[in-house]
Amino acid sequence: MKELHEKAVAKLIRNGFEVFPVEDVQAAGTLIRQQLEALQPDSLSFGDSMTLYATGVVDWLRQQRPYPLIDTFEKGVRFRELIERRRQALLCHTFMTGVNAISASDGSLHWLDMIGNRIAPIAFGPRHVILVAGVNKIVETPEEAYRRIREVAAPQNVARHEGMKTPCAVTGRCSNCSSPDRICNERLILHKCHPKGRISLVLIDQVLGL
Ligand code: SF4
Repeated sequence: MKELHEKAVAKLIRNGFEVFPVEDVQAAGTLIRQQLEALQPDSLSFGDSMTLYATGVVDWLRQQRPYPLIDTFEKGVRFRELIERRRQALLCHTFMTGVNAISASDGSLHWLDMIGNRIAPIAFGPRHVILVAGVNKIVETPEEAYRRIREVAAPQNVARHEGMKTPCAVTGRCSNCSSPDRICNERLILHKCHPKGRISLVLIDQVLGL
């Protein structure tokens, strides 16, 4: 695992990503707060990520409001309003979220998304993107990355959302469904970071997220 980890970090840096290996979620939370302090975002948003939530950064942003936050998951807000906020988040200054899989052999990053609000701002729009991931997201090849997402991340992700009526919600396995609740609709692969350094990855030495 250590070898795979080191290979992934080296390849990601070579591809223009900034990579910050840290020991645990507490260190990740501290580092992200420092990054935001340096960036001073005039608007900030985030995509759904269990790992990001585990760092405590989202709770801190919601409670302390140190920067203008576009909260696209605020409880009690109507879905239509949340969708409008997700459109606004496409042009925020700094966007944060997690990663579905990291391919060590070529240093690429992989996602599969339902609506696209989590992956579109990663590709373009915000001036800075901060990603977080546990080491369990690292695999050897791009093919394994896609397999990990379809066979592990997506079915488990469905399971944590109540009321999703997909085959994997029942069986725990992907059957490439056509359900209206299907969460595997849009795929993003980042081969390189352009412009260089726009995207930073906080790589946490723990098993985190799905
Ligand atoms: S394609 Fe359908 S069955 Fe497969 S993981 Fe996605 S939602 Fe579940």
